[in-house]
Amino acid sequence: MDVNLTLKNYINGEWVDAKSGETRDIINPYNQEVIATVPEADETDTKEAIAAAREAFDNGEWPETPATERGAIVRRIAELIERDKEELAYLESLDTGKTMDESRGDMDDIAGVFRYYAELADKNGGELIDSPVPNSVSKVVHEPVGVCGQITPWNYPLLQASWKLAPALATGNTLIMKPSEITPLTTIKTFALMEEAGVPKGVANLVLGAGATVGNELSTSNDVDLISFTGGIETGKKIMQAASGNVKKLALELGGKNPNVIFADADFDLAVDQALNGVFFHAGQICSAGTRLIVEESIHDAFVEALVERVKKFRIGSGFDEDTQMGPLISAEHLAKVEKYVETGRKEGATIAVGGGRPEDPELQNGFFYLPTIFTGCTTDMNIVQEEAFGPIITVETFTSEQEAVKLANDSIYGLAGGVFTQDTVKAERCAAKMRMGTVWINEFNLYFPHAPWGGYKQSGIGRELGRLGIEEYTETKHIFQNL
Ligand code: NAD
Repeated sequence: MDVNLTLKNYINGEWVDAKSGETRDIINPYNQEVIATVPEADETDTKEAIAAAREAFDNGEWPETPATERGAIVRRIAELIERDKEELAYLESLDTGKTMDESRGDMDDIAGVFRYYAELADKNGGELIDSPVPNSVSKVVHEPVGVCGQITPWNYPLLQASWKLAPALATGNTLIMKPSEITPLTTIKTFALMEEAGVPKGVANLVLGAGATVGNELSTSNDVDLISFTGGIETGKKIMQAASGNVKKLALELGGKNPNVIFADADFDLAVDQALNGVFFHAGQICSAGTRLIVEESIHDAFVEALVERVKKFRIGSGFDEDTQMGPLISAEHLAKVEKYVETGRKEGATIAVGGGRPEDPELQNGFFYLPTIFTGCTTDMNIVQEEAFGPIITVETFTSEQEAVKLANDSIYGLAGGVFTQDTVKAERCAAKMRMGTVWINEFNLYFPHAPWGGYKQSGIGRELGRLGIEEYTETKHIFQNL
């Protein structure tokens, strides 16, 4: 496919190379071919982008632009994403290996996120509150936070970016985005669309580079007022420390090790379907993957048998082949991590019911492929049950009572999301109320939409994206009192 892409940083309205002249090759995870070469920015480029965003916030018109006008620009971005959907989906699949079906679905979701925040832009007004003093006025207003540093991961490159860009722009902030250094292509394209939509110079800046340089500079800079980060727990902890210098506002969307509780009275076929979709979508590289299956003992054998039968038929391959159900992992480094994790499971005494290695197909040997893998005989103390592998791996534990199921579901440092499958709606509600996580799906798994808040309990993060709460992350609240 012919693509129209300027492979540069976007700083203060200009497309520029890294000052150092350094570049980075972007690799196709399907066959390890170089698909693009992009600038490798460092602290110097980042400081320039921060200065542009600071100037645009402190002295530019964007924060004072009527919210309806900002909303119209955000809506235009949604329209341009829809116009260029095929090209964006192609770039996302090329960069991440995910199937075109998944990438097209992502693009629909992304346009939906921009549309949602376009609509909310002028509905974020303040309120008059009761004043305790006669002849006075007390009002509460919401204002943009300021200069935002936005750092995104590689698994859903543009989806995660849209959750940050749309509310930040709608509320009048300026920003510097640093996409994952391994998957920058769709974010680059979207910055060109934002320019076309009329986002003024300096308001949205893009810096391509590594976490230790660009990401760290954003996190430590005294000129950045907020960091919105999506990525792993260990990186999140580093960012919290780096951001403490000027007490930046922090929104952290971190990892997950998400339980999926299957009761014996569940709709069996639906539960099997969703248990598989919940994990093997995008080869398990999903923060909300339902990797911990917690299955009622009486149906364990039948359930595992049904899963294994389906998994054996999984079609693994190129994301551009319409038949493919699962693409490769993102990188050689990540593949090694997943292999090591499976080795740990073996050593811990879990049993591999299916998978547990790389596919033998000669056509897949150049890609970072790993077979969908199911471990049975797992217990909650095992590392494979506690640590996020971020790959196509399910662990299966069993329970005999509702209390035990909830206890196992909650036995994690993470608290991002979880599922319950049962036809007993009262039991489902009881479990959902007790599950300590930001999202609980009942008879469903991995469903997102723009007006539902997303975020984690416990070490899965701080703050919420999407929904009205997603706007609140990007606004300060001010009380103004006036004697008349
Ligand atoms: P990562 O933490 O390695 O990297 C994420 C981003 O942080 C990248 O852009 C990286 O360059 C940057 N970074 C790395 N070191 C940094 C530093 N010292 N300072 C500032 N920035 C730094 O994560 P990843 O491997 O790209 O993504 C996978 C992780 O993301 C998983 O743990 C997954 O669960 C999580 N994730 C969470 C959500 C969510 O909504 N909660 C969504 C997607 C992914």
